[in-house]
Amino acid sequence: MYTPEELLKAIIACSPDGYVSCDEFGKIVFVNEVVEKITGWSAEELIGKESSKIYSLPESLTAAGREDEKVKPQAVILFRRDGKKLTLKARQIEIKKTDTSKSRNVFGGYLTIFHTENPISSNLERAQVEFVSTVSHELRTPLTSIKGFTDTLLKSGDKLSDENKKKYMTIIKEQADRLIRLVEDLLAVSRLESQNFQLTVRSLDLRKYIGKVCESLSSKAANHKIIQKIENNLPNVWADADRLEQILTNLIDNAIKYSSHGSAVVISASALCDEKDVKNKLKIEVTDQGIGINESDLQKIFTKFGRLDNPMTRQTQGTGLGLFITKSLVLALKGEISVSSRPGETTFMVILPAVVPEIAIPISPRDDLNTGIEGKI
Ligand code: ADP
Repeated sequence: MYTPEELLKAIIACSPDGYVSCDEFGKIVFVNEVVEKITGWSAEELIGKESSKIYSLPESLTAAGREDEKVKPQAVILFRRDGKKLTLKARQIEIKKTDTSKSRNVFGGYLTIFHTENPISSNLERAQVEFVSTVSHELRTPLTSIKGFTDTLLKSGDKLSDENKKKYMTIIKEQADRLIRLVEDLLAVSRLESQNFQLTVRSLDLRKYIGKVCESLSSKAANHKIIQKIENNLPNVWADADRLEQILTNLIDNAIKYSSHGSAVVISASALCDEKDVKNKLKIEVTDQGIGINESDLQKIFTKFGRLDNPMTRQTQGTGLGLFITKSLVLALKGEISVSSRPGETTFMVILPAVVPEIAIPISPRDDLNTGIEGKI
């Protein structure tokens, strides 16, 4: 006769579902072969890891799972070894263990079951789950680090050398900056997706804005050669000042971040003509001499949280929201954005409408306080 453990092992082995169990501290203690197959991680790599590093559960699932073992399966993201994300339905059940000293059952951890046979069908559901889960994951990483180093400073601050104290406080500050960047980017995404998103479009001197952004990035660019190639007699651009600055900042900042010290970043601006030879568009190009982007990744970089898996990206801080925001802003300004890349050279190209004098809207009396013409898109 077999034992209940042997029976359980046989059931789990023939199940098409993935099983992960964690102890009361959230550390993985068991995974079945299905989990190894779908995540690409081996059991040895997973056991002992925090479950939150592999998957992120919606609050509703963890909260309801405590009281109601029959909680409905919900969409959950699994973070695979190759950096890709997998959305599956999952259930979570609390495991009780016997507390012999008190001779009663106490909380012993969770069993999470990933259903591999009914993949999420709705794109919207998948997108929503992915967004919430990625945001929680992105928030948790810096918060864990801030909490860890603050705890160390509080507990053993007196015993630490000044050098170590400074090192820990620098990490806390960097992680807090990372959180601020993430929250700012999330607010920008939320504004872009809300119905109230408004742009104040005016006639702007592109040269002035390129200069301003290069100036504000000058400390980051201290080890790069920043070269501006701006055509003479460039018409003004139709754009919203803050959004134009944001577009230029994101592209120039990326060019600096994803290329080596000592290399050049070239920002060029020129006019494009229509069939009647009228300068009706402006072309802005930002070229770096960095690692480049594989052709297969060119679309991914414009998606939310679309960070690439390469050494340069791993060693640079970023939210993966910058190019999504940039593309949305360019499209909102009735422009176009594209990228071309090969190892050692990447160029982002933005085309925006130019101010054509003959068809410019006359300035109304209320606009005379502004430097240009104003309108809303
Ligand atoms: P972030 O820089 O915050 O990660 P972005 O949305 O600005 O996010 O960029 C998305 C990803 O695209 C980056 O993580 C990086 O992998 C890649 N990328 C962006 N710009 C460049 C560039 N100039 N050269 C190489 N890779 C780039």
